[in-house]
Amino acid sequence: HKHKVLVTGGAGYIGSHVIRQLGEAGYDVVIYDNFSTGSPQAITQGKLVVGDLGNLERLYQVFAQHQFSTVLHFAASLIVPESVKYPLDYYTNNTRNTLNLLRCCQNMGVNQLVFSSTAAVYGEPKENPITESALTLPINPYGRSKLMSEWLIRDCGVSSSLRYVILRYFNVAGADSSGKLGQFSKNATHLIKLACDAVLDRRSNLQIFGNDFPTADGTGVRDYIHVEDLATAHLDALRYLEQGGESQVLNCGYGQGYSVRQVIEKVKTISGKDFPVIETQRRPGDPACAIANADKIHDVLGWKPKFNNLDKIIHSTLAWEVQKENFTSDLNTNIPIPHKLSLTS
Ligand code: UDP
Repeated sequence: HKHKVLVTGGAGYIGSHVIRQLGEAGYDVVIYDNFSTGSPQAITQGKLVVGDLGNLERLYQVFAQHQFSTVLHFAASLIVPESVKYPLDYYTNNTRNTLNLLRCCQNMGVNQLVFSSTAAVYGEPKENPITESALTLPINPYGRSKLMSEWLIRDCGVSSSLRYVILRYFNVAGADSSGKLGQFSKNATHLIKLACDAVLDRRSNLQIFGNDFPTADGTGVRDYIHVEDLATAHLDALRYLEQGGESQVLNCGYGQGYSVRQVIEKVKTISGKDFPVIETQRRPGDPACAIANADKIHDVLGWKPKFNNLDKIIHSTLAWEVQKENFTSDLNTNIPIPHKLSLTS
């Protein structure tokens, strides 16, 4: 029998990669997305409902129409500097909307949840690599909006039969090996994507935000994880919940950090192309270093990453960014785009 799952934010970068793997594994998928940042082209399968998580009535309709075993909740705003500028949009879109979804799950009898959280909940960690039991003291509204969402979920786990896997993503990059999926969003601000844009002359230079961090070369250090491995972690989490596993909070990373400078050098080497790099001031809300201790996800879910290699991540991002041009011609224009949230206007 096919399990039916609800995927919020299924038209987004990570959600779309998870959906492709869910389809392969025989799951029946319903996507709930408002297309504020997601793309119709990212949807390879499943039934699409265009809707906003702020619209409880519509959400209840979807739950009433389908019998979901599990909800995978990706829908969120996720750009750190944007969250500093528009905090209320982040608390609305992330925290309030998670509350709506939990309310719906509770009233409609869905008691399994996989939630997209972030290393940003740790803020500026005291120690790297970071374990899940580290203090959570986020240093930007994005991290706080996600930590508050975690609290809502954990409290419901105590008060009700809800079981959940909260996945704390480190820095997600790369693209699906099929060549059909990757980061569609034009507003993506992430380092590897922007470096690839510089390689492809889509931008004239790349900025390094801060060269005075307390790190080996002064630039920010991050644990970059391939989106396909991250997607696999979601399928592992789903199976774990289906087998009756108890609630978990798990880091998703490789346990290896690279500085901004190291990433840029690798992009240049792999592409064989040089581009101008400008060193500028720190971005608001950025920690110096975030590297995962990923022992727990290996132990609990038996997660086996296949692409834990920065070269592979950069290769697949570059390949995707080249290939993506082919997609812009056949945009599906039949899907209505709802009003954009204020933060994207
Ligand atoms: N970064 C940078 N230049 C850019 C984009 C990012 O120097 O154009 C740095 C950023 O300050 C951080 C790292 O690259 O140290 C990763 O940032 P990204 O936006 O990719 O992810 P985040 O860690 O903010 O989620």
